[in-house]
Amino acid sequence: MHHIEQVYINGEFVTPHGTERFDLYNPATARVIGQVRLADAVDGERAIAAARAAFPAWSKTTKQMRIAALQRMHAAVAARHDDLLEAVVEEYGAPASRSAWMASYPAEVIAQAIAALEAFDFTTVAGAARVEMTPLCVAGLITPWNSDAGFICGKLAAALAAGCTAVIKPSEMSALQTQIVTEALHAADLPPGVFNIVTGRGDTVGETISRHPHVAKISFTGSTRTGKAILRNAAENFTRVTLELGGKSPTLILDDADIKQAIPLAVQAGLMNSGQACVAGTRILVPQSRKAEFEQALALAVAAVVSGDPRDAKTVVGPMVSERQWQRVQGYIQKGLAEGARLLAGGVGRPEGTRDGWFVRPTLFTDVHNQMAIARDEIFGPVLCVIAYRDEAEAIAIANDTDYGLSALVLGGDSGRARRVAQQIQAGRVLVNTLTHEPKAPFGGFKHSGVGREMGAWGISAFMEPKSILS
Ligand code: NAD
Repeated sequence: MHHIEQVYINGEFVTPHGTERFDLYNPATARVIGQVRLADAVDGERAIAAARAAFPAWSKTTKQMRIAALQRMHAAVAARHDDLLEAVVEEYGAPASRSAWMASYPAEVIAQAIAALEAFDFTTVAGAARVEMTPLCVAGLITPWNSDAGFICGKLAAALAAGCTAVIKPSEMSALQTQIVTEALHAADLPPGVFNIVTGRGDTVGETISRHPHVAKISFTGSTRTGKAILRNAAENFTRVTLELGGKSPTLILDDADIKQAIPLAVQAGLMNSGQACVAGTRILVPQSRKAEFEQALALAVAAVVSGDPRDAKTVVGPMVSERQWQRVQGYIQKGLAEGARLLAGGVGRPEGTRDGWFVRPTLFTDVHNQMAIARDEIFGPVLCVIAYRDEAEAIAIANDTDYGLSALVLGGDSGRARRVAQQIQAGRVLVNTLTHEPKAPFGGFKHSGVGREMGAWGISAFMEPKSILS
């Protein structure tokens, strides 16, 4: 059993004022594997005060000093790779390919921030003005469970690069990963108070941070619902926000697509991170003229996906993170059937050969129209919809007929045409015939998928305000 009893404030592991104990589960067994003692609003206040006290000195550090600090953070987080790997499997049920990425990404994202900081111009000239990029002050960084260490490290590295200090509120459901990252960041020997980590509930610590007049910036990754609440709270103090929210991303298969190339990409895009990914391509748009052909190939591919024990190398889809998430996925599969969608693979219940864990059957529906709940709501599980379109214009219209706009994938034989289609899709990231990630490019969403961008110079600027000086 893991017992996490402390939070991290002002450079020290301290016993929180909060006394609530929160159970941690292994989703592959549905058994309790530990407990975390949660911070409360008082701890949130203390963490904000520590970050505020550390700001004057940190904001005056040179670029070289910040790079040196980030390099120490990078080395310290990289050194905990194996511990992170074990934690993401145990606490989160990430299957092999995903867990490998989740263990290496936290250090990688710090390295990306170092590269962006090296190239960052803090001062530019605009006409007669000298424009100085000025750090905002205390940043509140609120992160979800689905890539705990990666989001903590990415947001913190960008905030510190900008000259801000930080209070981090990670999800209460990923406390094992948070503990490992906190120990690593402590070992990086940054000045006390520059970063503080208070694991607690959203409606206590999260609310304290998002309402606090001494928090100048919130960088949040999580659901659209919580993002709206944070935006409302932030309005009171004009707190700046970056919101990375949900998605219902389209995979648009054009009529000239090579089926052998398109199907594996479409299935991988839809089921990444066991379907628990903000960018998952869960609406697969196929041409009416080739519908039967694509249905058959997609059905075979989804039915062949192994869902089960994350420690088995063959597994592609691991368990859902919680019983609540498992119930949610089951509910949407039932809703799809009730709405008249036709099941091509999967369905309700657990996959054969699995027992206690929160395992689900990778599920594919067809005859879906874009107004059904399964086509509109972010399910956050391995449930894919096939939606037929008549022509390219209708395909683009369906792709854009969503509240979200985080990501999209266009698959087609003529890459010039596919790129022209990509330009018409309202999403922060559109991939054409690839699933490659580009960490140097800005990341974020249109519409209800968020506000602002992370990564690269965009990510650092998000923690700053431009100040024009004329003399
Ligand atoms: P969530 O919104 O429930 O929680 C995210 C974080 O917000 C947690 O730390 C939670 O404790 C906190 N929180 C909850 N209520 C709060 C409040 N009132 N004030 C302040 N903080 C509060 O999201 P989740 O279930 O942990 O994560 C899944 C969601 O995250 C999905 O919708 C997914 O699409 C989204 N997500 C988006 C991205 C992206 O980059 N766009 C990446 C990953 C996940």
